[in-house]
Amino acid sequence: MNTDELRQRLEFYQDLGIKTLYRRTVIERAMPPHPQPPAVVVSLPTLEPKQDSLLNILADIGDCKRCRLHEARHKIVFGSGNEQSKLVFVGEGPGADEDAQGLPFVGRAGQLLTQMIEGTAAKEGIPIKRSDVYICNVVKCRPPENRTPQPDEMEICGQFLYRQLQAIKPKAICALGGTAAKALLGVQEGVTRLRGKWHSWHDIQLMVTYHPPYLLRPYNQNAKKEAWEDLKKVLHYVYD
Ligand code: SF4
Repeated sequence: MNTDELRQRLEFYQDLGIKTLYRRTVIERAMPPHPQPPAVVVSLPTLEPKQDSLLNILADIGDCKRCRLHEARHKIVFGSGNEQSKLVFVGEGPGADEDAQGLPFVGRAGQLLTQMIEGTAAKEGIPIKRSDVYICNVVKCRPPENRTPQPDEMEICGQFLYRQLQAIKPKAICALGGTAAKALLGVQEGVTRLRGKWHSWHDIQLMVTYHPPYLLRPYNQNAKKEAWEDLKKVLHYVYD
């Protein structure tokens, strides 16, 4: 990080009301004989104000221009659902419908997510609806042309996701797709390796499954079945 980026980061923390920063001990590791270029790993910052709440976070976001994604957005998509939910779904970022309405997962992929949650719950005898869970994204503004959010965008906006998850403190998180999984877990593996297994995010159980837009493609029917299996695991873990 250069001096300018560091200054911007510190100003951002100041915006959040964070006055004190602690430096983590850095463990020096021996370099391999032929060092490879470092893989880009997103790490969500771990600072949040005391007594945080979703309302505080929303107020802090304000008319956010902290990253380039503000340039083309129409509405910030903060999140929706039950703020005391035991289960939070995290996608990667808003699409066109979400950008127009300011709500997460409201287009075709959103309808599929609703079916996945409510259909699986009904089949498994778990009395929940989509409105009982909380849904949000890693970035709150739509990336142009629905491109994947870039690591710096996820890192800047990920601070709000971190605070949302800490404020809600769900029993489990379900990461929808590889981008959300990578942002939350700070790993490089793709969704096919990560899905279907339990991981941990700050002591909260985290399941990875496919991103609903991916499941809309007709040739991904097997993935659809796998996503339903993943969801079954999550719902039983949270609501049994
Ligand atoms: S994506 Fe997040 S950090 Fe970037 S402008 Fe939108 S709200 Fe701000």
